Amino acid sequence: MDAAIIAVGSEMLTPQRVDTDSLFLTDLLNARGVEVVVKLIVGDDRQRLVSAIRYALSQARLLILTGGLGPTEDDLTREAVAQYCSRPLVFSEEICGSIVQRFQRMNRTMAEVNKRQAYVVEGAVVLPNGGGTAPGLWVEHEGRHIIMLPGPPRELKPIFESQCLPRLDQLLPPQVIRTRFYRVAGMPESDLDQLIAPVYKQYTNPATTILAAAGDIQIHLRARCRTEEEAEALLLEVGTPIEELLGDRLYSRNGNPLEATIGEMLRDRGMKVAVAESCTGGMLAEKITSVAGSSDYFAGGFLTYSYEAKTALLGIDPEVLREHRAVSEPVARAMACAALARSSASLAVSITGVAGPGQGDETEPVGAIYIGVADKDGSLVRRFQFAGDRRRIRVLAAQTALDMIRRRMIGSTASPWHH
Ligand code: ATP
Ligand code: MG
Repeated sequence: MDAAIIAVGSEMLTPQRVDTDSLFLTDLLNARGVEVVVKLIVGDDRQRLVSAIRYALSQARLLILTGGLGPTEDDLTREAVAQYCSRPLVFSEEICGSIVQRFQRMNRTMAEVNKRQAYVVEGAVVLPNGGGTAPGLWVEHEGRHIIMLPGPPRELKPIFESQCLPRLDQLLPPQVIRTRFYRVAGMPESDLDQLIAPVYKQYTNPATTILAAAGDIQIHLRARCRTEEEAEALLLEVGTPIEELLGDRLYSRNGNPLEATIGEMLRDRGMKVAVAESCTGGMLAEKITSVAGSSDYFAGGFLTYSYEAKTALLGIDPEVLREHRAVSEPVARAMACAALARSSASLAVSITGVAGPGQGDETEPVGAIYIGVADKDGSLVRRFQFAGDRRRIRVLAAQTALDMIRRRMIGSTASPWHH
């Protein structure tokens, strides 16, 4: 079954408020094989709401409306659904009684406006609201289902989980959605697409989505099937050739980011990593330590942004710095080796480069980054040329350094970004 969601409320058309209810609903619907095909945000305007309901129900058999069930004049969801279905709103003594009781429990008397919330679309199933005054409503109309839920998430969530999902499960044919989340480092999005499109373009099920960020691409495969076994088999059928094509550029099969992946690898191997950073100013250390439990494998770092710091903290020979400049192969190598020697780490990585926008007094152009890796077997330096603004260049440098750590551990001789 397909579903549509309408978030009702003018506040969500401002920059201050975001509709999060629909994300929550979509997650639970997807898990049951229900695809959300239309999502609308509509202000508190009855005619617009009726038009939106008409459109949404032309696209999907299930419609969920969130919000607009409150007691005030601008809460119009009930009225709009009643108008769409050409049904009257009828007063429910029972709902009114429970609203009165709720106010009594809080030692307040019910304001007259709250009576609005005791009206229901004729024929609706009432979904009691333990956390607020407005109950949810479920209306069946011309073979379609319209669910109205209060907007506040702490009211909507329990009603949907405990009262809507069991009803929905009875309506749905057995269908499941299973997903696979791949992540890839050190590859431009266009190259990746060119590589794997011949595989995934052959299938509409699973559906493939590619999301690209600087130095990090996610590939989502979503299979919709009658059973879990069928879905898993489809994912295997499409996922296996994709995995083969990506080879060691694929760093995650479960959606984990690169810093978490290398964390697990370091822990499994009983290794510790240290960093020596220049142009990234601690971003690499920040990434590594953003993972809970990273103290198991992060030995520490050297933040050597200036020439002086490179000499004082890492003992880099001032003569080498003068001769080669800081953004150079020998300095990247010396930084990695010194970080290894001056810490308890078994693996060290260094970054030195020109993040821009100016070039400073370096001889290298903006975007030139040297990344060094050192361990007991020796050291390795690679030069990269990144494009973009300062932020992007620094993100790419930190991400690529993480990938160099990963590649060193798996013994890959290929370099990120070069194929
Ligand atoms: P109430 O009975 O509390 O008045 P309601 O159904 O009328 O509920 P609204 O008045 O539309 O709901 O919204 C109340 C609050 O709920 C909003 O200020 C907002 O904080 C939150 N809210 C409404 N819709 C959403 C949404 N789609 N996503 C997240 N929060 C929402
Ligand atoms: Mg509202």
